Order: sequence, then C-alpha cells, then structure tokens
Amino acid sequence: MRGNYPKLLFLIVLMTLSGCDRNPSDHQQTLLVFGTLLDIKAYTDNPTEFDSAVRSLDLTFQEMHREWHAWKGDGELVRLNRAIADGRPLEVSPDLAGLLRQAKHYSDKSDQLFNPAIGQLIGLWGFHSDEPPGGPPPDPTIIKSLLEGAPSMDDLHFKGDWVSSVNATVSIDLGAFAKGYALNLAIEQLKRFGIGHAIVNAGGDLCASGQHGDRPWKIGIRHPLGEGVIASVEVSDGECVLTSGNYERYREYQGIRYAHILDPRSGYPVEHVASATVISQEGGLADAAATALSVAGPKRWQDIAVQLGVSEVMLVDENGDVYLTPKMQSRIKFQQKIDKVVVSPQLKTQNQALKAR
Ligand code: AMP
Ligand code: MG
Repeated sequence: MRGNYPKLLFLIVLMTLSGCDRNPSDHQQTLLVFGTLLDIKAYTDNPTEFDSAVRSLDLTFQEMHREWHAWKGDGELVRLNRAIADGRPLEVSPDLAGLLRQAKHYSDKSDQLFNPAIGQLIGLWGFHSDEPPGGPPPDPTIIKSLLEGAPSMDDLHFKGDWVSSVNATVSIDLGAFAKGYALNLAIEQLKRFGIGHAIVNAGGDLCASGQHGDRPWKIGIRHPLGEGVIASVEVSDGECVLTSGNYERYREYQGIRYAHILDPRSGYPVEHVASATVISQEGGLADAAATALSVAGPKRWQDIAVQLGVSEVMLVDENGDVYLTPKMQSRIKFQQKIDKVVVSPQLKTQNQALKAR
C-alpha cells in the first residue's frame, strides 16, 4: 500500500498542473453578448481549458456584436449600410461577405419571407433601439413608401469581398440570422480548446456538441403563450435549436402587441404565429428558417420548410395549437397538455417518398 503513495501524489500533482479534474463534471459560465445572456455549459475534466475557451469566446462574440450590429456604433455592417444608402460599393471582411451570401441564399429559398434587407422597416417600427418601443404604430403611408422601395437581398452584388447594392433602400439587419450562425461558430471554437461536450445557449437559442456524460443533452423549449416549458427534446452532437417568438420583443400600444418579426410583404408584424422552432445542424439556417416560418404562418409554413430544407419544425399559433413535422413529432416530449396538435401531412408524404426510394 505504502509504495503506491508517491504514484498517487504524482498523479494529483500532474492533474493540478494540467488543470484536469479526475472525472468530467458540469461547468457553467455566463457572458453578456448580443444584448443577451450567453450561457455556456460544458461537461469536461478540464476546467482550466474551459475557462480559456470562454474567455476567447467572449472576445469573438464582442467582435461579432460590434461588427454585425445593424444600427449602433461604427462596425462593418453599419458602414456597409451607409455605403449602400450613398450608392457606393464597400469591401467587407471575408466573414461578413460569407454571412451575407448565406443570408441571401436563405432569403431566396424562403420566398423572401426571411428578408434581412428590410432594415429601414425594422427601424421604422422602433426595433432599432435598446429600449422596447412604444406609442402608436408607424404612419401607414411611410410603411407603404418603404415597401415601394422593395429592398431585397437580390439587390446585393458581390465581387470577391466587395459588396454593392443596386437599390439604395436596402438596409441590412442580421437580427434574424447572426445569432444562429454565431452559435455554430461558438461550438467550433470550444472544440478547438478541447471542449467537445457543450451547450451554448443564448436566451433559449442553442447549439450543442457531444453529450452530457452517457446521455444526450436534454433541453426545454419555452411555451410562447403560457408559463414554463412546452416541450423537451434531446439534442445530438452538432445540432442547433432556434426559436423565433413574438414574445421576445414587441411594441405595445393600447393593449395591442406588435411583434418584432415583420412580414416583408405587408410591412406589418406577424400575427398568427406565437413561435416557430427549428432544429438543424446549421445554426444560421435554423435561425433564418424560424423567422421565415413565423412569417409564413400556419397555412404556408410547410412549403417554405420544404424549400429551405428543414425537416424538424414546431409552430405554435396564437391559440396555442401546435403544428409539427413528423420528424419533430418523433423526438419532442410535450411537458404540458396541448389541445390541438397537427402533424404536417405534406412533409409526411415527402418523408415516406424518400423512405420508399
Ligand atoms: P428572430 O428572433 O430570429 O426571428 O429575429 C427577429 C429579428 O430579425 C427582429 O428583431 C428584426 O431585427 C429582424 N427581422 C424582423 N422581421 C424580419 C424578417 N421578416 N426577415 C429578416 N429579419 C427580420
Ligand atoms: Mg431567426
């Protein structure tokens, strides 16, 4: 027995020096980024590496926040919006050019229901402000005149990293897209620090890697109308879960709430969807899709989901009725009684067709 002491001591010293715990355990840190709390959970035996990874993530997120902000400061996107308004091309970083190219692609696939070019309209509704907007909705004639400008991502042209717009009314707002894109990057960055079992969660929007010990990570999706969690779901390695909700930000006037998600066709906030949740390996796609499906509404969401190539979707309408794709139905567990659940027959048929091939 005695002879083992030096070995044990050596092991303890080694583990202390390398910052390793003997067994993996839960570690958690919170950052304030993108105007929201970013909660980072890891299951690791190396808390020192986790600390370094979180510090590095903090810097990355602060930079993304600064550079991709649509209306505050003097970051790349603010400069690009200014250049577009002046009719000038601007050379942007490869990161921003890549982000804009992806956003344009998803905008096309969503029939422009996800349309990050409507920054002026979003500003008109008062959502380019840190404070929740109040007062009556904007003057309909101004809404109409902004719609007449027909800003679209198709107005953007790329030559390498040079970006220009043929339409000066385009103003880019990546609020519906950048968070999902950034959460994917965060998971990659944690992996580079050796943290391969983690969840990065920004106010209910999250991406995950690895698993929680010998089980998958399990998360709850908030009920958009009531209290607590509507459903839980186990998330596999590399998956992201993004939700667009009309409860997240809104303008309130005379008892009416105007959601921060706008229908680019009418210029008015969406009315019939309380939330849309999408699961995908691509955080940016899930984010763009969740916004587009909120706009598409209970009647059109299935077509847009097929066009965007997302197959795991849950929509909750203004009455609390729930619409699901078959794939989503097979993996979520409701945590509350739901009066009406509609499983999409159209996607079911598509899935069956795929299986039958
Ligand atoms: P999300 O929570 O991902 O749906 O993003 C909502 C944010 O995206 C809003 O606060 C606006 O900044 C912006 N936005 C609103 N409506 C749209 C839309 N139809 N397409 C693209 N971005 C939008
Ligand atoms: Mg979104």
